[in-house]
Amino acid sequence: MLTNDELARWDRESFFHPSTHLGQFARGEAPQRIVTGGEGCHITDRDGNRLLDAFAGLYCVNVGYGRPEIAQAIADQAHQLAYYHAYAGHGSEAAITLAQMVMDRAPQGMARVYFGLSGSDANETNIKLVWYYNNILGRPKKKKIISRWRGYHGSGLMTGSLTGLQLFHAKFDLPLDQVIHTEAPYYFRRPDAAMSESDFVGHCVAQLEALIVEHGADTIAAFIGEPVLGTGGIVPPPAGYWPAIQEVLDRHDILLIADEVVTGFGRLGTMFGSDHYGMRPDLITSAKGLTSAYAPLSASIVGQRVWDVLARGTDENGVMGHGWTYSAHPIGAAAGVANLKLIDSLGLVGNAGTVGAYLNDQMQAALGDHPYVGEVRGEGMLCAVELVADRDARRFFDASEGKGAKVVAAMLKRGVIARAMPQGDILGFAPPLCLTREEADRIVAVTTEAVGEVLG
Ligand code: PMP
Repeated sequence: MLTNDELARWDRESFFHPSTHLGQFARGEAPQRIVTGGEGCHITDRDGNRLLDAFAGLYCVNVGYGRPEIAQAIADQAHQLAYYHAYAGHGSEAAITLAQMVMDRAPQGMARVYFGLSGSDANETNIKLVWYYNNILGRPKKKKIISRWRGYHGSGLMTGSLTGLQLFHAKFDLPLDQVIHTEAPYYFRRPDAAMSESDFVGHCVAQLEALIVEHGADTIAAFIGEPVLGTGGIVPPPAGYWPAIQEVLDRHDILLIADEVVTGFGRLGTMFGSDHYGMRPDLITSAKGLTSAYAPLSASIVGQRVWDVLARGTDENGVMGHGWTYSAHPIGAAAGVANLKLIDSLGLVGNAGTVGAYLNDQMQAALGDHPYVGEVRGEGMLCAVELVADRDARRFFDASEGKGAKVVAAMLKRGVIARAMPQGDILGFAPPLCLTREEADRIVAVTTEAVGEVLG
């Protein structure tokens, strides 16, 4: 067996890590962690630590680690048929079964499901389908996509453009021209402290209307949004936001893409976030919770009105030229089937609602009045604590102080993994949906201690 030192050296010299400070890592100045196992809400590493993972990996291990049912389904599928493609009408029992299970759980009005590998590629698929749709309808100019600042939709060329975070644009020549951004529904960071929540919704709607007028509705194909902003800060929308946005989109004949990569399959305490907020999406993007990340798999769920036009398009033009080698990969599909069964049999959607509410309430009680906490917010099994230098003035810490990252590091020392969200000093929590109340108590206790240690 390799020694820890050997592995650490190979890691620094050979492995190009995603979303990592490359220079610091290569010089051994950034943390390394070699993860070896996991069970329930905990992971273990090569240094012998056992950590409570309050972010479920990257909010994806929804059923928790170490589920033998999913491991067995993957092994069985690998033995029977590890791979065959899904082009030209081919499939596997696992992929067909999963498609049916997804459709049974999807919000009303959905017609078909297209499987890919990641949230990013599922969003790429959805954007291409929207373009194809408008071309078939004879509207070649109607192509721009509206996304929100602080939205997160992936890190490809198109999806990185949709993502509304500086870190994902700077030095990459993004965003591409076809993407335009509008105001994030982030009430805590509203432009004017005097605005009520409903004033702020009106403001977001006015911003959207102005953008549509500026570009012309005949150039805008779709609006994409996460039901709850995720990587941009874990921000549930203000009351009434989605119905108000939906009304504008309907009036201008703009499609709605609900990016449910985080919220799909239970995280908000409902199967989909669209159900939770009364959204009526034309397309849904999902990934993470579809397999709980036991194997890579994504789903673009296509609504009836788009599907009908796509089908007509192929009648007119032949096969639609869009597919990945690994679309509907049988091993991913087998993982998905076992995962969705487990979500049902363990009642994890309900648990996300009840224990998620408990986590949020306890966090609010522990830190809601802390002088350096501006807001504790969340929905279902999502929670965030936003740190501020001055509560009343809503003044933020200078980014260079890295307060959020310091609190997260202080939590790690105490055995709990939270995430310092990339823009602002925001502590993010998105535990597995199987979290217990005792584990929620531990997350809150450790967060409180760490905030005290770093900020006093
Ligand atoms: N959409 C959302 C809402 C996400 O949170 C993410 C990933 N965090 C993605 C898309 C991209 O998914 P992936 O990293 O699997 O490409």
